[in-house]
Amino acid sequence: MSKTVLGFVGLGNMGAPMASRLIDAGYELVIYDRSEAALQALVAKGARAAASPAAVASEAETVLISLPTPDVVKLVCTGADGLSSGTKIRRIVDLSTTGPQAEADVATRLQGTDIKLIDCPVSGGVAGASKGSLALMASGDRDAFDLLVPVLENLGKVFYVGAEPGMAQTMKLINNICSAAALAITSEAMVLGAKAGLEAETMIDVLNAGSGRNSASVDKIPRFVLPRTFDFGFAVGLSAKDIRLCVEEGERLGVPMMVASAVRQLFSITRSEFGHDADMTAVIRTVEQWAGAEVKGKDAKA
Ligand code: NAD
Repeated sequence: MSKTVLGFVGLGNMGAPMASRLIDAGYELVIYDRSEAALQALVAKGARAAASPAAVASEAETVLISLPTPDVVKLVCTGADGLSSGTKIRRIVDLSTTGPQAEADVATRLQGTDIKLIDCPVSGGVAGASKGSLALMASGDRDAFDLLVPVLENLGKVFYVGAEPGMAQTMKLINNICSAAALAITSEAMVLGAKAGLEAETMIDVLNAGSGRNSASVDKIPRFVLPRTFDFGFAVGLSAKDIRLCVEEGERLGVPMMVASAVRQLFSITRSEFGHDADMTAVIRTVEQWAGAEVKGKDAKA
C-alpha cells in the first residue's frame, strides 16, 4: 500500500523534530524550508525536498507549517508561490504561533478556495516535539480537524478548542504568557536569592516542594540556567513576539495586561541585549547584569 503523503514547511527547532516523527510514523514527507541546511537534514531521514511551498502543495493534500512570524505564515500560505497556488492541497495545519488576528486574516484570504485552515499551535518546546509529548490546540472546521487527528496524535496530545481559526491561537497566547511570566518572576526571585547568599539548587528544591513551583522552577531554570547552557531551544525574539501578541489581544479585548506588559519589557530588553536568537532562558542574565549576582549550579560550566 502506498504511503500517505504529507507536506511540511518550516523545519526549524520545532518543525524538524515534528517532521522527523511523521517520517518515523510511516508518512511520506514532501518538505520546503528557505534554509538548504534545514532541508538536507530531513532529506537525510527520507523526506523529499520541493522547490517552493506551492510545489509542496501540488503533491500533498495536507500541509503542516511551523514558521517564525505572522508575516512569514501569510507569505507561505497565500503569497507568490505560496501554498494556495498548489494544485492538490486541501488542508493547511498551522503549528506556528501567529496570534488570532493573523490566523483569521489567513483564513479570510483562503476564502473561495478549497483549502481549510486548521489553526494548531503547540506547546512543550523542542523536547516535547522530539518526544511526541506536545500539547496541540486546534481550531477550525470540525470535519477537517477529525481527518487530521491520526496525524497530529504522532506529535502529542490534541485538544479541539473551537470552530474559528484564531481560537487556538488565543489559547496558545494564554499558555505562553503564563510560561514567560513564570520564567520572568522566578528569574528575579532567584537572582535576589543568589545575591542574598542562597544556593541555586537549594532554592529550586524548596520552590518545587512548595507553593512557588512553576514551569521555570521545574524545568527551564534547573536544566538550562543552573548549568549555564541557556539552550532550552526557544529564541527570546520569538518569545517576545508571543508576549507582544498577547498584550495586543488584551488591548483589543479591553482586558488589562499589567503584569504581561512588565514581562514584555524584560523580554524586549533581553532581546536587545543578547540578540533575537538568544535562548529565552537568557532573561535571567538581564536581571543578573543589573543585580551583579549570578544563579549558577554547582556543576555549571565555567
Ligand atoms: P525557528 O526559527 O527555529 O524555525 C523556523 C523555520 O522556518 C526555519 O527553519 C526557517 O528557515 C524557516 N523559514 C523562515 N522563513 C521561511 C520562509 N519564508 N519559507 C520557508 N521557510 C522559512 O523557529 P521555531 O523555534 O521552530 O518556531 C517555529 C514556530 O513555533 C514559531 O511560531 C514559534 O513561536 C512556535 N513555537 C516554538 C517553540 C519552541 O520552543 N521553539 C515552542 C512552541 C511553539
